[in-house]
Amino acid sequence: MTQTTIIGFPRLGAQRELKFATEKYFRNKISETELFQIGQTIRQDHWQLVKDAGIDLIPSNDFSFYDQVLDTAFLFNIIPDQVKNSSLSDLEKYFALARGYQGDKGDIKALPMKKWFHTNYHYLVPKFEEETVIQLSTTKIFDEFLEAQALGIQTRPVLIGPFTLLQLSDYGGQARADDFVADLVTAYQAVFRQLKDIGADWIQLDEPALVKDINPEEKDLFARLYQQLLADKADIKVLLQTYFGDVRDVYDVIVQLPLEAVGLDFVEGVKNVDLVASGFPDDKILHAGVVNGKNIWRNHYEQTLDKLKQLNVKSFVLSTSSSLLHVPISLENEEFPEKIKNHFAFAKEKLAELVELKEIVDHNRTDLLDQNTQLFAVERFSPNRKLAETIGKLSESDFTRQPTFYERLDLQSQLYGLPLLPTTTIGSFPQTKEVKQVRARFKSGELTEVDYDNYLAERTNDWLKWQEAIGLDVLVHGEFERNDMVEYFGQNLEGYLFSKNGWVQSYGTRGVKPPIIWGDISRSAPITVKWSSYAQSQTTKLVKGMLTGPVTILNWSFPREDISIRESTLQIALAIQEEVLDLEASGIRIIQIDEAALREKLPLRKSDWYSNYLDWAIPAFRLVHSKVQPETQIHTHMCYSEFSDIISSIEQMDADVISFESSRSNLSLLDDLQAQKFKTQVGPGVYDIHSPRIPSIKEITETIHAILAKVPKEKVWINPDCGLKTRGEFETKASLENMIAAVKLVREELS
Ligand code: GLN
Ligand code: ZN
Repeated sequence: MTQTTIIGFPRLGAQRELKFATEKYFRNKISETELFQIGQTIRQDHWQLVKDAGIDLIPSNDFSFYDQVLDTAFLFNIIPDQVKNSSLSDLEKYFALARGYQGDKGDIKALPMKKWFHTNYHYLVPKFEEETVIQLSTTKIFDEFLEAQALGIQTRPVLIGPFTLLQLSDYGGQARADDFVADLVTAYQAVFRQLKDIGADWIQLDEPALVKDINPEEKDLFARLYQQLLADKADIKVLLQTYFGDVRDVYDVIVQLPLEAVGLDFVEGVKNVDLVASGFPDDKILHAGVVNGKNIWRNHYEQTLDKLKQLNVKSFVLSTSSSLLHVPISLENEEFPEKIKNHFAFAKEKLAELVELKEIVDHNRTDLLDQNTQLFAVERFSPNRKLAETIGKLSESDFTRQPTFYERLDLQSQLYGLPLLPTTTIGSFPQTKEVKQVRARFKSGELTEVDYDNYLAERTNDWLKWQEAIGLDVLVHGEFERNDMVEYFGQNLEGYLFSKNGWVQSYGTRGVKPPIIWGDISRSAPITVKWSSYAQSQTTKLVKGMLTGPVTILNWSFPREDISIRESTLQIALAIQEEVLDLEASGIRIIQIDEAALREKLPLRKSDWYSNYLDWAIPAFRLVHSKVQPETQIHTHMCYSEFSDIISSIEQMDADVISFESSRSNLSLLDDLQAQKFKTQVGPGVYDIHSPRIPSIKEITETIHAILAKVPKEKVWINPDCGLKTRGEFETKASLENMIAAVKLVREELS
């Protein structure tokens, strides 16, 4: 009998209960106890749901109040002394590291946040210090196992494995990963023992870091960690779970380790099929990740069965390719016509697919197979042949802006006369409850379009006045008309579909609702011209137009699986190019094309970076702005990730100005900009907008000094590190006022 399992389940709750409860807790509207109770209810509902769907092996500890990596840091006491020694409660400490804390119990900065491999999930980066003492410090993993046990559900606790933990963490002072191997091994073994004591049979160690390029030292580290770890595992069975790619560099080590089970991704990890086919040990169970954990299309059973056949193993457990964290919970409340809905599977429907696959494998259910094959035989929409032709005809000149960077720079500085260290923001201002309510009332028909527009105009005007008053140099309209930087564009492009409730966790309490690329993408009418030109008409200062770039639109959508993402991106790029030209024609002089998610689909292996991604993604961005006038200034913006290693590609985007997130990663990028003589003007964010904390004038002044120590002052722009839509009005205004005060101080010093 084949068994089924999943790697992890989404955790925000079907109605995003966790998000709302946590936010209430942040606002002191509910107590710690109440928050814990809500967490418990969500976990129980999910275990029950997975069980009722017929999944055989159910994980636990895949729940988190904020982030599973932060949970692991707390489990092993990888916590700064400042936090440990504060008088905050345990939960307060946890959230302090997640989002910063400012109050009578201290002033704590949040840990840096980074993208979780190539997904849109962000994890918090733990930091090993010289004084870090690894020891078991929380009971979450045990508590949740017992909680499920009390419901009569035997679960397999999930934990980030030691290799991935060490690989993803930062190190302070002289601390090195190697220094912590022995203590980590002991601590993981203590977890094994305690789990065994309370009745667990299995543990799942998540090691996605194994699908990246692994050098010999890293391979040695992995081998040593696991040889030691498995030497005394208290009789617990260990599932080594990988995802997001193949394990070509360590497969030989994995098959020799005394593991009971190995989980491999056969969706993104195409090479895993060959690895397994070349030999898989009889003493291990293979967890075959065949149902895509990252996209929302139905599984193509015929192809899956084919793959399974190629593996040539006696038995396997049917699993997902990654945790289901990256897809919405259920299609149940969606309103797509059946004809469309049939093509989708969210988390809950993926459970059903696993069970159907099991039925087909075990009982040769050709009815189920035929039904599925039928689905893939129909043409879903009628293709846009003209668009395909246009894309086929694109040539080098379509991807090249004229004249060159420095010629444009001269022209633009003469024309705009901006001061030294020009100030701006990234685009959005707070999307307050009121803004969201008004939009909801408009959507439900309670408010007329005229009333909605009047409201938006009023908001825009208020913030324009305020920006003028505090002395910002380049203004923004505030993006009040947008719910989300991708959904807003998707809604105004042909070829997109939208779920009603398809939320996916992006970080902590934040969810995004990725639109679905259903067909060929094109633009039927201008999208942003109305509000940008309205804003420009209200002020004599420059107003920046705000667009989302094609790579980000693609990366934050659920992409098609029937054509390449390159092809879809070029379709989007052509649509956004039309928008850029319309904005320019309407009198907008500065246009920012956000590529917040540029890095997101960068292949995990360096060897694939250019050939499989950057070689078309960067040109796709250039295609968008290649036809503007020399004096139109093109900005771009990126967030949450390391750019050091792709700086030359970023330069090749050929923007005039780029702003980026940097405050959470300690401005280390500046050294690289300096080393590489980066020519694009830069706005390294001078404060962290992901935290409600208000940076002081002194702090911002120091940050600006740090920037000026590395980047020529003529090239520097001053701005926050991202858009302000998630912040409150009070902290936004106070922070920006401090930013302006700091810039004034520095300008005086410089003159
Ligand atoms: N212009 C967008 C905003 O300000 C950019 C958001 C982002 O980079 N994530 O909200
Ligand atoms: Zn950003």
